[in-house]
Amino acid sequence: MIETSRNGQRGREDSVAVVGAGIIGLSIAWHLNKRGIPVVIYDPNEPGSGCSSGNAGAISPGSVVPLAMTGLLASVPGMLLNPAGALHIPMRYWLTAFPWLARFVSHARPSQVRVISKALADLYAPAIDHHHQLLTEIGAIDLMRKSGQLYLYRDERQLQDSERDWKLRASHGVAFDILKRGEIEELEPQVGQAYQIGVFLPNAAMSVNPQRQALAIAQALVSSGAELVRERVLGFEHSGQTITGVRTDQGSHPHRATVVAAGAWSASLLRTLGYRVPLEAQRGYHVDFKDAGISLSRPIIPADRKVFITPMETGLRVAGTVEIAGLNAAPSEARAKLLYEDLRAALPSVRTEQPDPFWMGHRPCLPDSLPVIGPTEKWAGLFSAFGHGHLGLTASAATGDLVGRMISGEPVPINVAPFRIERF
Ligand SMILES: Cc1cc2nc3c(=O)[nH]c(=O)nc-3n(C[C@H](O)[C@H](O)[C@H](O)COP(=O)(O)OP(=O)(O)OC[C@H]3O[C@@H](n4cnc5c(N)ncnc54)[C@H](O)[C@@H]3O)c2cc1C
Repeated sequence: MIETSRNGQRGREDSVAVVGAGIIGLSIAWHLNKRGIPVVIYDPNEPGSGCSSGNAGAISPGSVVPLAMTGLLASVPGMLLNPAGALHIPMRYWLTAFPWLARFVSHARPSQVRVISKALADLYAPAIDHHHQLLTEIGAIDLMRKSGQLYLYRDERQLQDSERDWKLRASHGVAFDILKRGEIEELEPQVGQAYQIGVFLPNAAMSVNPQRQALAIAQALVSSGAELVRERVLGFEHSGQTITGVRTDQGSHPHRATVVAAGAWSASLLRTLGYRVPLEAQRGYHVDFKDAGISLSRPIIPADRKVFITPMETGLRVAGTVEIAGLNAAPSEARAKLLYEDLRAALPSVRTEQPDPFWMGHRPCLPDSLPVIGPTEKWAGLFSAFGHGHLGLTASAATGDLVGRMISGEPVPINVAPFRIERF
């Protein structure tokens, strides 16, 4: 457990409040802290214990394809009707999910896809460099491996179904090589014979332990003077149209600026300021196997299964599935168990007798597949950084750099207009 520091910055009017100690909030806090800006991070829970603790660890600058591409949409009805499908919405949640899904579908138009993928490419392109820099600064570079990533397809027809995705990636300069079966075996000998074609992305990396990564940043922050406060933010203090601090379950604390980085819980906080952000939690699961008998060198992604299989320092992790069921429903062990079959499909010799307890996390998802990053127009002193969806680990260090620059008044290196909160 990270010790809460007690150096008395809380309530200092020159400090910045970061709401949420997930990988996004922690990365922002680090970028503020290294610029000499006093920072107070509020989270009632252990740092990095939300969605950031259990993701697949893939650092994927090439994942510039928005989720709502028409190819995916065509397969949605089939997936919804199949209880074992990669996308699941319990019937009781259909009505609640419908408005979000309608907006999601509206972003599948080719003109929208072009704009969204450009914004994602701008944000993700420097992701590995930013992780490298941050992890070097905190003395934890061992957490990242520049491993590449390997997508797996059963046959030519399956690869052709994804052709539009790969063309879109190529149009943004994402490098990849198409591999024959023998070349797959050279990289990953234990991949099952069912997968005959591979696509290898050399410019991809992985975290060997996303939870340790978050904790290492939190520890480095505390060691270098930032304050981590176990309080839940309930709302904001303001004077006219300027946010002057946060109101927590323990009282009010003044700050010169406030960053909302509370992952899937961010929209409800911002409602108190009049924002109606269509943030939906896409619940995903993982299972780790300590004794899987598999030796992988990089994340593999069997495309038909829509899961990531990553060799973590804690064991072999299979992670994925999308379940839209809200923030409060209990995790479903049945959904987690579907991952076993995905794992066996890709790695037939895997041993699955000794799984760790399954894990579930809430991906913070906006219908256009873009996060919200930056200042708000309506409220001076208020910044947002949430909604990173399926790629929050990837974009975390780059998001930290952007928000650090914004708050300290430095120029930002990319067009951040697509990330404005006012687009909703
Ligand atoms: C199965 C799965 C696999 C994934 N794989 C990958 C991957 O391979 N690569 C990748 O890039 N991304 C991946 N992701 C996505 C990634 O994990 C998320 O996008 C990322 O963790 C989001 O980080 P966050 O900091 O926004 O949210 P979180 O980590 O959820 O942090 C939010 C924090 O805010 C706190 N909070 C909430 N409300 C309040 C409040 N009122 N006051 C104070 N604090 C509050 C919470 O306690 C929490 O600690 C995956 C996700 C899942 C579920």
